[in-house]
Amino acid sequence: MDLPPLLDLLFPRFCLACGQGLLHTTLRWLCHRCTARIDPLGHSPCPICASPLGPGAAISSCRSCRTLRPKFTTTVAVGKYSGLLKDLIPRLKYGREPRIAWPLADLLAETLVLHHRVGEIDLVVPVPQSLRRRLVRGFNQAELIAEGVARRRRIPLLRSGLYRIAAAPPQVSLSRTERLKSPRRTMAARDLRRTLSVAIDRVPERFRDRVGGVLRSPVDGRVVLLIDDVITTGGTVNEASRALLGAGAREVLVGAVARA
Ligand SMILES: [Zn+2]
Ligand SMILES: [Zn+2]
Repeated sequence: MDLPPLLDLLFPRFCLACGQGLLHTTLRWLCHRCTARIDPLGHSPCPICASPLGPGAAISSCRSCRTLRPKFTTTVAVGKYSGLLKDLIPRLKYGREPRIAWPLADLLAETLVLHHRVGEIDLVVPVPQSLRRRLVRGFNQAELIAEGVARRRRIPLLRSGLYRIAAAPPQVSLSRTERLKSPRRTMAARDLRRTLSVAIDRVPERFRDRVGGVLRSPVDGRVVLLIDDVITTGGTVNEASRALLGAGAREVLVGAVARA
């Protein structure tokens, strides 16, 4: 009989989803049984918003993206909002278990590596939370996930690149189309020109462009990976993308743990 390695005896680890013991030689946070409960997006998700296109789809993007033209160019998601992801994400958000963000960030980082655009990403930015929700929950789950993804992929993280300018009102009465079309501005990007009221020659290097000019914002000219936990209608990430592009971002790609 094999004895468990010393490391496992001294520092036992357990699956964050089901509590089963994990060997140090295997996975980091989740057991194989639990990871097998992730439902993949399927063969042909829409390349822009990651919603299912249906079997044998010969079209390049979904109808909603063709008519509404989202501000972001592509969405990378670990899987559908079902199975394991539907167990874990509510535990992170409502069960106030911030450590659940660790395996979710790892899964998203692993999914990203397979995407052909990953090498072009300059910055990781989380979808912001309203101050009220932040105070109630104590953390922004999108920020925790963005933190893990940025660390795993060694991409700089811009923690507070975006902020909410008003608490998003409940939009349950609106249809998906209405919500996406809604011109309500709920997010804005930090404007460096407003916050950097120091002499031009004292502006730090990281806030300068290639020829030494001061950037409009930390996202100016950058390809941004915008992170959220779940994409439902795409309205939130679209609004965030609009703010990022408005602040000079070259392009916005979306990374989410799950696609509802
Ligand atoms: Zn498990
Ligand atoms: Zn789409």
